[in-house]
Amino acid sequence: MAPARLNLVEPRPSAPPLRRAKPKRLTLVVPCFNEEAVLPETIARLIALLDELTARRLVSADSGVTFVDDGSRDATWDIIETAQADEPRIGGIRLSGNRGHQHALLAGLLNAPGEVLISLDADLQDDLGAIPRMLEAHARGAAIVYGVRSRRRHDTVFKRQTARAYYWLLRRLGVDVVADHADFRLMSRQAVDALSGFTEVNLFLRGIVPLLGFPSEIVTYERNARFAGETKYPLSKMIALAANGVFSFSTVPLQWITIFGFVVALGSVGAGFWALGVRLFTARALPGWASTVIPMYFLGSVQLLAIGIIGGYVSRIYAETKRRPRFIIEKSI
Ligand code: UDP
Ligand code: MG
Repeated sequence: MAPARLNLVEPRPSAPPLRRAKPKRLTLVVPCFNEEAVLPETIARLIALLDELTARRLVSADSGVTFVDDGSRDATWDIIETAQADEPRIGGIRLSGNRGHQHALLAGLLNAPGEVLISLDADLQDDLGAIPRMLEAHARGAAIVYGVRSRRRHDTVFKRQTARAYYWLLRRLGVDVVADHADFRLMSRQAVDALSGFTEVNLFLRGIVPLLGFPSEIVTYERNARFAGETKYPLSKMIALAANGVFSFSTVPLQWITIFGFVVALGSVGAGFWALGVRLFTARALPGWASTVIPMYFLGSVQLLAIGIIGGYVSRIYAETKRRPRFIIEKSI
């Protein structure tokens, strides 16, 4: 990660206290997919947080929460509707089907009210204690504040190691991402308006947001364990998201194919000359099977891999040219 490109502003200890500025209207944006097990607790904690932030004059009294129901098949939407009935600070958007976390989050950001928006997961893994620090960073001038996990104690070893390798790969490919940042972040209204100009269907928000280029800061937090329920991000969804990060933000893999093809071609020409030399100048019989069959399998697999990589781009071009809506809102309260 190149901090300069991220336009990170240095925290200024001498910054004027926030109380002098007029508190802004905050909306917490929370995508939910089958989260009935955790949602009542999440609602209670977020409302308590809003009370505290309002009392400390960090946000205005009309601040609220917008839940985005990503086509849940359980009682998630009923819980949101019931909560909304006796708490006007709660809002809800129901998508017409399950469009995935990134699209649900985008639907929330583009449709929620507020001058400042903070996105977080429904399962209380993102530490609410980091939110006042995010608001302070915003008051100091950051239009975007990234929540960065300081420790991943509650993630499995597999998740931690694959995440590390993935961030390394993305940086090698020239993709500007904030390491250990998922989608727990603050964005100003201006930043969200800029985000709405990115119309891509293959969404990888943590790749797009640094491209917006506004002044940003990092706030570290310790990621909690999921409060209740099970992960809604099975390995297949995680791989799909990771592939979007590569194919939507870097064309370096296409260059790899070309370079690799070139190297293999040179090697084959060399091997050809060697075989000719053996045939013309020695009496040794050529080793037949291995030297024929192994390169065949090897080159076959290289070709399949190359086609797969090109396919990754072609399938995305296909989805982008169709320009289908990224989400469809069924109801909004
Ligand atoms: N989520 C969503 N749509 C999906 C999958 C997940 O809106 O198709 C939401 C989910 O409800 C949660 C957030 O995205 O608020 C992160 O999901 P989860 O906590 O299951 O992922 P993990 O933390 O295990 O990576
Ligand atoms: Mg989670």
